Amino acid sequence: MAGDEITEEDTVPSHAAPAADDGAADTSMPVAAESALADSFVHSRLLDSVASFTHHRDVAALDHSLVLSLAELTSAHRVVLAKRAVDGTYVENVVRCVPDAQGAYQLQTDDPDRVDPALKLLHRCMHRLEVQTERVQDMHRLVVPILCDGRAIGALQLDSDMPPAASRPLTEGFARIYANYTALLHESERDKLTGLYNRRSLERQLQRLLYQREQALHEAAAAAPEARGPSAAPAAEQSQVWLAILDIDHFKRINDNYGHVYGDEVILLLAQQMRACFRRSDVLFRFGGEEFVILFGPTGQATVHAVLERFRRRIAEHVFPQVGSVTVSIGYAGVGRHDYPASALDRADKALYFAKQHGRNGICGYEDLSARGLLGREMAAGSIDLF
Ligand code: GH3
Ligand code: MG
Ligand code: MG
Repeated sequence: MAGDEITEEDTVPSHAAPAADDGAADTSMPVAAESALADSFVHSRLLDSVASFTHHRDVAALDHSLVLSLAELTSAHRVVLAKRAVDGTYVENVVRCVPDAQGAYQLQTDDPDRVDPALKLLHRCMHRLEVQTERVQDMHRLVVPILCDGRAIGALQLDSDMPPAASRPLTEGFARIYANYTALLHESERDKLTGLYNRRSLERQLQRLLYQREQALHEAAAAAPEARGPSAAPAAEQSQVWLAILDIDHFKRINDNYGHVYGDEVILLLAQQMRACFRRSDVLFRFGGEEFVILFGPTGQATVHAVLERFRRRIAEHVFPQVGSVTVSIGYAGVGRHDYPASALDRADKALYFAKQHGRNGICGYEDLSARGLLGREMAAGSIDLF
């Protein structure tokens, strides 16, 4: 791994016996000892790789580290990791690692919807739950499934000069460690009932989106330098990160009238509706009891409002088993580059509170309320009936 190379010094125990005093120490090593030393080099490189990639607490960083470690250890021409979504119905993420002209490995995160014939074997592997191999020109391609509870959560593809018999044990070992470790990470960042992200994951996911936005703005500025300066400001506004908080209306009544089991069922069904309604790139959280958060990657205010409105209507029209009609109130706010998650949450929460105070089953944007002076007046004059 870069920066973590094993030096000879690292491999010599610090308590090694000093050489004999007569200066005639025999430096030759028995063949068995030499071979053990060579093995020990290989093992320590391997352990170093595993320690490096399991060091990460973030799934995206773990994915990158996994493909990079495997590529470096095998001098691969290409390593690809494909991952399925939580519900297993589609490929959510593809990460690949290929050497550049100088031989340094570069990582790419691909659009999973891109049709790439080279990924055909990955799909077959995930479908059949079996290792697949093929010869591609003068390379060997090996694809192993990443299995968790008897299903494929993804697959790992290695294109290298190594015949499958040589590369398979290592690649399968990586796939197993990866499966175990992602299961642990998954538990720590997801809500048990709904499978959505939990509250603890918010900061990391928000940082990720803000970083993506910065990258996109840089790339756009590099591609069209004349668009820099004041004229770039509206474009930046149109590509903001947004945070929405959604709260079920009168949820206590649902619990009181039908019991907690039905209350939980409503929470679960609402989460399913969220998954079905929002885009894959929108990040969904169960934030607490019957409160949810949605993070939107760079987009404009009108789009966010329209998407939330579509969801609000969908829920209001949905018939929940036994309980019947359920409505939600939503508040949202833009998230600035240097925002603390708590400040963004606070603004969205103020907008949510406003929606609750003004009839529920509605959507309010903090910036809009603020521009219309409604938040200040609300605080000073109490309730203003807008709905
Ligand atoms: P409002 O329209 O103002 O949001 O009214 P509300 O009744 O929904 O009030 P509030 O949001 O304050 O209360 C939420 C209730 O949700 C309180 C708690 O009893 C219940 N609750 C919290 N977590 C869970 C859960 O995991 N399952 C169930 N069934 N109920 C929960
Ligand atoms: Mg609530
Ligand atoms: Mg509520």
